[in-house]
Amino acid sequence: MNDRYAVFGNPIAHSKSPQIHARFAGQTGQDLIYTAEHIEEAVFETAVQCFLQGDGKGLNITVPFKERAWALAQWRSDRAELAGAVNTLYRLEDGRIAGDNTDGLGLVRDLADNNSVQLSNARVLVLGAGGAVRGVLQPLLAAGVASILIANRTPARAETLAELFADDGRVQACGFEQVPAETFDVIINGTSASLQGELPPIPAATVGSTTACYDMMYAAEPTPFCRWAAELNAGRVIDGLGMLVEQAAESFRIWRGVRPDTAPVIADLRAALQAG
Ligand code: NDP
Repeated sequence: MNDRYAVFGNPIAHSKSPQIHARFAGQTGQDLIYTAEHIEEAVFETAVQCFLQGDGKGLNITVPFKERAWALAQWRSDRAELAGAVNTLYRLEDGRIAGDNTDGLGLVRDLADNNSVQLSNARVLVLGAGGAVRGVLQPLLAAGVASILIANRTPARAETLAELFADDGRVQACGFEQVPAETFDVIINGTSASLQGELPPIPAATVGSTTACYDMMYAAEPTPFCRWAAELNAGRVIDGLGMLVEQAAESFRIWRGVRPDTAPVIADLRAALQAG
């Protein structure tokens, strides 16, 4: 019987993960089944245990269960520990459930490898202080950025995140109104403002002709943040489709020990998104 994998979430109908993992499996000659499962909130932990005790080899976890997956994991990677959230589950040889978080690495790979954005010594402005932002801070620091300023609508949440990295000394926090009118090398929108058609109110002067602007969200049409950055003639304007595929590729590598080629999968998803 083929090894089984799944993504658990609620809602889950629009998940692209089955499509992405089917492509990875075809490309690398692996026999596996990957499905998207709608999980009722009350039964998440039971559903995970049942899946991983049966023929299920690994799970991706998405909204709203990433923190509960973190709590359920009996072993966690360092990056999952710092992220406070888990998006990848599997069993260790001793039977314990392992939890990892591949979202941050997905972002770093999409920026650095797919889009040639220089992260080493970069001054980075990160907008938002929710789960997605928490997951990307450690991987950005590990990529050698010079500094990260976290700006959030609720400044206290940004401060709480910055405190997690107080020992490092490179992470600061503020509200949108306190963002200095200075050019940053990289600006990452990790808010869900684009979902509401809104834009975090930060100074236009943060965007220069070499600034890379990245929205973790993606859509068929450019997001409000991507439109804003393009109007300001940002050096690069990138949305989060590549991050989605890269985080999936890292989960696939953890489970199957082989790294798929992400470029053709990103290109196909982009074409499908634009075709509607
Ligand atoms: P959370 O709900 O945990 O956090 C939402 C964040 O957005 C908070 O900082 C919140 O601010 C801020 N926010 C919400 N609405 C507005 C607004 N109108 N104006 C300004 N700020 C706002 O969400 P996540 O962190 O899980 O996700 C954030 C985004 O990242 C989503 O768009 C999600 O789709 C995307 N994402 C993309 C991934 C990918 O693979 N491409 C992976 C993971 C996430 P406050 O604290 O003040 O409420």
